[in-house]
Amino acid sequence: MSTELAGSTALVTGSTSGIGQAIAETLAGLGAHVIVSGRHLGRGEQVVGEIRAAGGEADFVAADLSGLDGVRSLAGQAIAVTGQVDILVNNAGIFYSGGPTAETTEAEFDAHYDVNVKAPYFLVGILAPHMAARGGGVIVNLATGAAHKGFAGVALYGSTKAALLLLTKSWSAEYGPSGVRVNAISPGPVHTPGTAVLGEGINVFAEGTPAGRVAEPHEIASVVAFLVSGKASYIHGVTLPVDGGAAAV
Ligand code: NAP
Repeated sequence: MSTELAGSTALVTGSTSGIGQAIAETLAGLGAHVIVSGRHLGRGEQVVGEIRAAGGEADFVAADLSGLDGVRSLAGQAIAVTGQVDILVNNAGIFYSGGPTAETTEAEFDAHYDVNVKAPYFLVGILAPHMAARGGGVIVNLATGAAHKGFAGVALYGSTKAALLLLTKSWSAEYGPSGVRVNAISPGPVHTPGTAVLGEGINVFAEGTPAGRVAEPHEIASVVAFLVSGKASYIHGVTLPVDGGAAAV
């Protein structure tokens, strides 16, 4: 346990699984009081239990971010836990198997935009003004390499994350002057429950990259920890590729 983030409260959306769980555990290990969130009560309570067993502070707030009621409820309940949210990590996201644009249903389209764009947009709209009024806060958005380049079959998912990258810059302009830093991370392929369906197929996304391998969730979480810390105090509005060098070569 470290005390680097002691006294701060961090809301990590989608922290019942994968990258979000690793972020929650890492920030709690640095002393933040973490609000673990997702739809799945059992997994949420398990993550909270593991954080507490390691000496950290955490609470679970169940939320379905596919609708605005769920977003508003999460924001209100998160604030109620300690009185304020200092760190927001917009990690919850969905990525269906992808496919041709012509075969995308309206329901799939809406589901991606609801969770990946609309939820972070309105969460920031509720929480960032409180941070700005206090003169400080940090927001990190989880994007993807597919937000930077065109990939056939990934148009829908990639476009939602590309929207999040522009929002990262827009929110930096809007809230940065009030002391709120907003940044993003673009992970490459990461072993998580969400990507488990790909099996060995996930390795194809790491082929030819300098790292030459798929990442583990803690390798993304450690970069989020850096971005929310005072070490990143002069970093606003950037997107850090954490992709084993995929964007570079
Ligand atoms: P994951 O294992 O599938 O976990 C997704 C998380 O999002 C879960 O905690 C899930 O919680 C939550 N979530 C999904 N729909 C939700 C909803 N309607 N309401 C509330 N929470 C919801 O995913 P992951 O691989 O860790 O990915 C996390 C983030 O990183 C995503 O934004 C993803 O796009 C991004 N990313 C992942 C990779 C990768 O290779 N894994 C690469 C680049 C970017 P519940 O099930 O409890 O609702």
